[in-house]
Amino acid sequence: MSRYDGRVVVVTGAAQGIGRAYAEAFADEGAAVVVADVQHEGAAEVAAGIEARGGRVAACGVDVTNEGQVAAMVATASVRFGGVDVLVNNAGLHLGRFNETSTLPLDDWRRILEVNVIGPLLCARECRASMAARGGGVVLNQSSMAAYLPAGGAYGVSKLALNGLTMSLAAELAPDAIRVVGIAPGMIGTDAVLSHLAPEHKELVTRGQLVGRWAEPADLVPMVLLLCSPGAAFVTGQTFTIDGGFVPRP
Ligand code: NAD
Repeated sequence: MSRYDGRVVVVTGAAQGIGRAYAEAFADEGAAVVVADVQHEGAAEVAAGIEARGGRVAACGVDVTNEGQVAAMVATASVRFGGVDVLVNNAGLHLGRFNETSTLPLDDWRRILEVNVIGPLLCARECRASMAARGGGVVLNQSSMAAYLPAGGAYGVSKLALNGLTMSLAAELAPDAIRVVGIAPGMIGTDAVLSHLAPEHKELVTRGQLVGRWAEPADLVPMVLLLCSPGAAFVTGQTFTIDGGFVPRP
């Protein structure tokens, strides 16, 4: 018997990077997984890989900022697997323009806030009834260490707002036995990040992390599996930093 046997997990932004690692890990632990992403083809590829390994999985094309599409995503989970137990709000956007807080065009500001804050809100509130009907559930919001950095820019601001959403929703959804938690990773070596960083910045990150190396998506998986499991039943409203002990230094 695996930890997530009989559970249904929706992971957004699961076509690549960290979300893909989460989707595969939950499936390996026995969960039925909805692989959701605005890149429908990528989501279908990840789902096919999980299915080939014997997992229960559905792919879903969804823009998390679109209410109708989010409703369809939750309907997919209900029709295929009977409902939702865990929602991982992993889909996120950064434009790599961390030092442009005052100069970033407003349309970019709005898009970042919409994907990183409104998207998780829409997904959580759409899952609420299903989770409540199943006796409770877990929402995990994927924040970032950038929330706590002076040069986090619009991205950092959006992730700090997401931490606020985690606290607020935790209070509001508690009567339905829904826990809301967050993790704030440091720099994780996904294509999305590595393609934006100059070599000297990559080296700076390596030196700044006390564990002395870059993290992989797999470094986040054990904590996420724990936080979304009954083992963390007394944990809600908190965002946990997982950053290899990041200390910015020259
Ligand atoms: P990524 O760009 O590889 O993956 C993000 C995924 O989200 C993509 O598949 C993308 O298609 C999807 N997505 C974007 N907008 C969407 C939308 N509107 N609707 C549905 N899906 C959408 O990035 P990643 O590095 O794997 O990061 C995943 C999450 O982790 C993000 O929330 C990111 O902010 C966060 N994070 C990443 C790092 C890092 O160093 N990689 C650090 C801290 C936090």
